[in-house]
Order: sequence, then C-alpha cells, then structure tokens
Amino acid sequence: MSYEQPEFWFKGKAAIVTGGAQGLGFAAAQKLAEHGARVFIADRDEALAQQSAVSLPGEGHGALFCDVTSDADRQRVVNHVVREAGGLHILLNNAGIQYHADAAEMDDEGWRRVFEVNVHSMMFMSKLAARQMIAQREGSIVNIGSISSFFGMPRRSVYVTTKTAVLGMSRGLASEWAPYNVRVNVVCPGYHETKLFKDYVDKGVLDPEVIRGRIPMGRLGTPGDIGNAVVMLCSPLASYITGQSIMVDGGYTIYGAPNAYEHAGIE
Ligand code: NDP
Repeated sequence: MSYEQPEFWFKGKAAIVTGGAQGLGFAAAQKLAEHGARVFIADRDEALAQQSAVSLPGEGHGALFCDVTSDADRQRVVNHVVREAGGLHILLNNAGIQYHADAAEMDDEGWRRVFEVNVHSMMFMSKLAARQMIAQREGSIVNIGSISSFFGMPRRSVYVTTKTAVLGMSRGLASEWAPYNVRVNVVCPGYHETKLFKDYVDKGVLDPEVIRGRIPMGRLGTPGDIGNAVVMLCSPLASYITGQSIMVDGGYTIYGAPNAYEHAGIE
C-alpha cells in the first residue's frame, strides 16, 4: 500500500461490504472502490446489490445474495471472494436492523432477531474473514456501531444493547488478531440521511429539525461521511490503530445539552 497515492491505497485488495446494496454500506462501498478496492456487496436484496455493484467506480466488483444470519451464506460469500480475488483484505460488517419496542413489552423473537443480525452475524462473518486474513497476515475489519453504542434511547433497548456489544466484541477480536496484523475497529454513525432515517421521519418517530438542532455541526451526516471514516480506518494511515471506535456524528455525542449555547450565554 502506498501513502503517497490514496487513490491506490486498496489496489489489488478485495473488500466485502455486508448490507452494501444501499444506505451507509453502499456509500462506503463507493469510497472503497474509489480508492482501488474490488468490492463485493453481500446483501439480501440481490437485485439492488447487482445494480449498486455495477455502478461502482473501477472494475472487478461483485454482488452476492447473502442473508448475514445464514452460516451457509456467510461461508459462500467469503469462499467466493477469496476464489475470485485471490484474497480478502477488508470486511465491512454494516448490515444492521432496528427494533422499537417498550422494554416492558419486549418479545423474545424481536430481541433474538436483532441480536442475530447485529451481533451474532457480525461475529461469525468476522471469524470466516479473519481465517483468511490471518493466513495473509493482513486485514482490516470495520464494524458499524452507532451513537447508541454509547447512549441509552427509549424503546430501543435491544438496538442499544447490540450496538454496545459491537464495541466489546471488536475489542476482544482486535486483541486476539493484532499479532497477525488483522485490525478490528468500529465506526459509530450519528444521524445520517438514509432510507432507515427517512422511514422513521415518515412514521413520525424522528423529527429532523429537532435532531439537526441537537447536532453542533448543524446538519445530518451524509452517507459519504461514514465511507470516509471506513476508508481511513482501512488505509495505511490507520496501520497502528486497532480495537478503537470513532464517532462520526457532527459532534452529537460531545454536546452536553440541547440548549447549551443559551446556557453558555452565546448568541
Ligand atoms: P439501510 O436499511 O438503509 O441499509 C441496510 C442494508 O442492509 C439494506 O440493504 C438491508 O436490506 C440490508 N440487510 C438488513 N438485514 C440484512 C441481512 N440479514 N443480511 C443481509 N443484508 C441485510 O441501513 P443504514 O444504511 O441506515 O444502516 C447501516 C448500518 O448503520 C446499520 O448497522 C445501522 O444500524 C447503522 N446505523 C445507521 C444510522 C443511520 O442514521 N442511518 C445511525 C447509526 C447506525 P433490506 O432493505 O432487505 O432490509
């Protein structure tokens, strides 16, 4: 990898992006491709994944049907990429789901389902990828957390629990695989303009103006903001960074109070 030419950071490298057909995962796939990676989108929406893969800059990209909760699908995807690209250097565990429910009414099935997608699948996808990366003595795994990795949120107890678990799991894996030059880090998005976000706005669960007012930088994140953080963590610039989490939230989590400016007497 070259420090001098960022556009070639990932030349000759293969990346898997789970849930990469759209949203933050797709934006990260675009950024990785811009920097030279061969990107394989693994998503349960195969048609959209194909469409998205075809639109990526550069050559050799692919799209694969994958329900990340299926062991067979995970294995097939990793095998395919290693066979096609001759290796696997980057895994972005991005697929994730939300579930809103009163904790006092929490149902077993909903709790398990979110855990299965957000934690279990991430662990076992990482395991398969790491076997190849350990053999190569090179690899970067980025797991997607959330501001909910650090914050409590009403009616999102299972999401908050899973996204907090992502931090612990990533630290555990990072410490175990560091001797093999396999790094594991977490990107924690704040509020971003994706389908997920728009769905909640449409349902009246989120008010975009209230959220914007709570973000010191005064804007929602763009999907590309997450892609940039992923690229940075996979690049040679981060070659000594492992087991860390980085917030990409416009300052949301360092802002003490919604009306902090007034408290501070700032006009
Ligand atoms: P989207 O729902 O826009 O995209 C997620 C993609 O993952 C979809 O294509 C979805 O397919 C796919 N997916 C879901 N479940 C599976 C599965 N079991 N197997 C394979 N693919 C699956 O989500 P976002 O881009 O908004 O979010 C991406 C990640 O970022 C998630 O981990 C989320 O928790 C996290 N995040 C997002 C924030 C935001 O503001 N958007 C804020 C904080 C964290 P389908 O459409 O079929 O469900």
